[in-house]
Amino acid sequence: MAQRMLQFVKRDREMPEKRSVDVRREDFHEIYAEFAERKAEEQAARCSQCGIPFCQTHCPLHNNIPDWLKLTAEGRLEEAYEVSQATNTFPEICGRICPQDRLCEGSCVIEQSGHGTVTIGAVEKYITDMAFENGWVKPIRPKAERPERVAIIGAGPAGLAAADALRRRGFQVDVYDRHDRAGGLMTYGIPGFKLEKPVVMKRMEQLRDGGVSFRLDCEIGRDHSFAALQKQHDAILIATGVYKARELQAPGVGLNGVVRALDYLIASNRKGFGDSVPAFEDGTLNAEGKNVVVIGGGDTAMDCVRTAVRQGAASVKCLYRRDRANMPGSQREVQNAEEEGVEFVWLSIPKAFFGENRVNKVRIGKMRLGPPDVTGRQAPEEIPGAEEDAPCDLAIEALGFEPEELPRLWGVEGLEVTRWGTVKADFRTKRTSLPGVYAAGDIVRGASLVVWAIRDGREAADAIAAELDAKAADKGAAAVAAE
Ligand SMILES: Cc1cc2nc3c(=O)[nH]c(=O)nc-3n(C[C@H](O)[C@H](O)[C@H](O)COP(=O)(O)OP(=O)(O)OC[C@H]3O[C@@H](n4cnc5c(N)ncnc54)[C@H](O)[C@@H]3O)c2cc1C
Ligand code: SF4
Repeated sequence: MAQRMLQFVKRDREMPEKRSVDVRREDFHEIYAEFAERKAEEQAARCSQCGIPFCQTHCPLHNNIPDWLKLTAEGRLEEAYEVSQATNTFPEICGRICPQDRLCEGSCVIEQSGHGTVTIGAVEKYITDMAFENGWVKPIRPKAERPERVAIIGAGPAGLAAADALRRRGFQVDVYDRHDRAGGLMTYGIPGFKLEKPVVMKRMEQLRDGGVSFRLDCEIGRDHSFAALQKQHDAILIATGVYKARELQAPGVGLNGVVRALDYLIASNRKGFGDSVPAFEDGTLNAEGKNVVVIGGGDTAMDCVRTAVRQGAASVKCLYRRDRANMPGSQREVQNAEEEGVEFVWLSIPKAFFGENRVNKVRIGKMRLGPPDVTGRQAPEEIPGAEEDAPCDLAIEALGFEPEELPRLWGVEGLEVTRWGTVKADFRTKRTSLPGVYAAGDIVRGASLVVWAIRDGREAADAIAAELDAKAADKGAAAVAAE
């Protein structure tokens, strides 16, 4: 099959004039679909049904992986999809962007025995893509409408997973987001080459079609007060994510051309949607032809370096203060970036940026790993005098994110936060210190993963539904007693 695809591509290159573009696209689609199906079935059949599903335990949603792999291997795709969607609100998204090497695939028994993991994520993506293509994805049609309204602040995966679960139970759901499109970081953070935006938008359409009401371009605390939301709704879910960028401290950071990771990624994603982005068009947030230096070792940094490569940067360097073994980002992503030509400068920090008005050079200081600190992790320390200069026309700060100060921004003193600024919420029920107010996703955990946000959103929805059911039952009992 792979050979047939290669032959197809070769013929296509050698004789482009022989066939019309549409026919070629159709052929390609057909052959690719056949290839993907064969691949998914092959991979699914590799599952040994070991009886100790470590993969399932290590999936934050405890997806019933062995069962849907078995059904896929038998060609029973619709049933496989039914099993997979029972525990995951957005399987097509997790299949694409979960760091599977750290989750399900990392604990696959076949991987552990040295034979290479079953590609669980790819199969999950495939069966859900097939489900959409074949119309197996059911629209949201609640059995009965409920009068209670729930406000969800934040249209990221946590808020949307809750919106989906609550709407299916018939509650009226209003989702507020300060962006013009829903999806949170799935839409504007994660690059399109990892998560195609039409895939995310399809889910938004499904939610809208199912009766979820979206109030976009609406920032709580600016366009609408939290107190007003409390008056208008029976429950509130805070799912605002974490957006305060950690700042780099070095001379020259104020120069033009030293930019924040999320500004850079949002601009790139907006261009992917076809939006006009002045800061991209004037070159401020466009890496084309530039010597790019990304600072940070997490997944956001990996997304920046790989986006810069795709924009046609002249060179891309990634500076990280620890070594490869101690970086927080996925090793798979580092490998991908290296294959694409990114240079990783381990054990290094930017000491200063130079330029007249725009940055044109960075001074790189060398580091070494010192003795372990209280956490047991070796702390990086500077090697005195070890410095070198490198050309740099675009520096991207990707040092991570912290929560915004919600109680101050929203004027709600009673909302308790941790010392890191994340909202305090019960581990299981997601209840906060305010009655009827819940919180889920990154705003509770700190910067995390889409799959954890989905789990939190689903759990919050269960708790909100239980509270509203109990209130409705009390009301009913009171009404009977009054008769
Ligand atoms: C660059 C980048 C790449 C990533 N890549 C991956 C990946 O490959 N795989 C993975 O699993 N995870 C990845 N993550 C992490 C993942 O995206 C997050 O953990 C996840 O999106 C958190 O979901 P959430 O719903 O809690 O918050 P978010 O997705 O951040 O959504 C929060 C929403 O709330 C809105 N909001 C905030 N404040 C307000 C307000 N006051 N009023 C109205 N709306 C508001 C925001 O506009 C946003 O839409 C990545 C993160 C980044 C930054
Ligand atoms: S949701 Fe993520 S961790 Fe769970 S099975 Fe899918 S890809 Fe693996």
